[in-house]
Amino acid sequence: MEADFETIIRSVMEACADCDTCRFLMHEDCLFFPELYRLVDQEKEDGKPAGDRQLQKLVALCTLCGLCPCPDIRNDVIRAKAARVRKNGLPLGHRLLADVQRFGRTCGMAPHLMNAALSNSAFKGIAKQVAGIHPARDLPKLPAEDFFSWAKARGLCETRANGEGVAYFAGCTAGYLYPEVARAAVAVLEKNHVRVVVPPQQCCGMPTLVEGDLGTTLKRAQSNLDAMTAVQEMGFEPVSSCPTCGFLMKVLLKEGAYHSEAYQQSIGAGDDEIRIPDNRGAGQFTALKKSTYGNILKDDGLLSALNPLDRIGVSDGFRDIGEYLGRMLDQNKFDDRFRTVAQRMVYYAPCHQREQKIGSPYVRLLALIPGLEMEPVGGAMDCCGMGGSLGYKTEFHETALSLGASIAAKIRDSAPDMVVTDCLSCRLQFQHLLPFPVYHPLEILADAYGQS
Ligand code: SF4
Ligand code: SF4
Repeated sequence: MEADFETIIRSVMEACADCDTCRFLMHEDCLFFPELYRLVDQEKEDGKPAGDRQLQKLVALCTLCGLCPCPDIRNDVIRAKAARVRKNGLPLGHRLLADVQRFGRTCGMAPHLMNAALSNSAFKGIAKQVAGIHPARDLPKLPAEDFFSWAKARGLCETRANGEGVAYFAGCTAGYLYPEVARAAVAVLEKNHVRVVVPPQQCCGMPTLVEGDLGTTLKRAQSNLDAMTAVQEMGFEPVSSCPTCGFLMKVLLKEGAYHSEAYQQSIGAGDDEIRIPDNRGAGQFTALKKSTYGNILKDDGLLSALNPLDRIGVSDGFRDIGEYLGRMLDQNKFDDRFRTVAQRMVYYAPCHQREQKIGSPYVRLLALIPGLEMEPVGGAMDCCGMGGSLGYKTEFHETALSLGASIAAKIRDSAPDMVVTDCLSCRLQFQHLLPFPVYHPLEILADAYGQS
């Protein structure tokens, strides 16, 4: 039987209270841990346990940014949310906000009508109320044509065997709300003679995962796993311009998969060993005793219900487009014939990009543009605070603003002409907090090629 909400979140509180590391490590960068320690201290002082509402407020503070040190702990926070959703269902507002795909597909059928309706303040007020959106948050305008329709009209959705090039996983936000970002991705790749195809795809599953809707997340992740495995078999490399889709595909999808029986058998591990790939290179492993580590090293990530070998295959082959272009640069295959762009920009590397451990490829690529002054902004622990679509929620709005205050102040101090970041949630948050225009690095590269 699956554990209930309170059992799971209490085990997280106990583990983190015993360890205490994140009391000091995460006190500025995440609102979950300060609240956890506040509740732990309050329980000690009052001699009575925190109530259900307090525990619910606690789990709502985790945005799954991935910055904290223990994947098991953040996974358990999501499992606690999932236990709550299993019992009570997902409130309508949360369901609507977590489903950019459905919103984009439904409203994208008549974008002009939807934009006209949303420009009416009475209608907008009611729509925000139904979806649980804070009144101060602006809604992005729907584009006249979403990226997937554009790609289909250009013949990019036709994949065929023995393909060469990339299979572009655009993600819902670029696909339905900011198609100019996805078109810039195609323009930059094609400028570099990379064939781009756009395979069938669902939302990566991150927004529903953060809400604790594991059922929908798994259905979508399975569908994407099948589609990405199929294009890989045809010879395409899956890539994404969205750091959150990349974090799910490259980090969360693979979590625990190397510990699975199927993987251990596939590499010929002995009966009493667990072999873990190490960083000496392909085919190199560290062997650990199963009798000692078997209870710790398990295939128990959030997406472990899916086939572990497929998860490893897709995760290991998946690339952020910045990473892909950075590799072309290393191989002297990257076209650096840019026009001069005399502007000052700050570049913010979002949490989900940093957690992919791919360095800062866009910093290197943007530095090739003549005249462009570009300064990286934000430290290893800075977070914009938007948490995907969580920042839109009435009850999370203030939290999102306090989380993003530090990075916003750093950007304001730099007073750039524009802000560059690859995360479209960060873009929404910066548009709310700052007076500067915000772009994806691929838009800057496409523009410097004269292709925007
Ligand atoms: S998340 Fe990990 S390191 Fe941080 S307090 Fe909890 S157990 Fe310790
Ligand atoms: S994933 Fe991010 S928000 Fe959640 S507990 Fe870890 S650091 Fe905090």
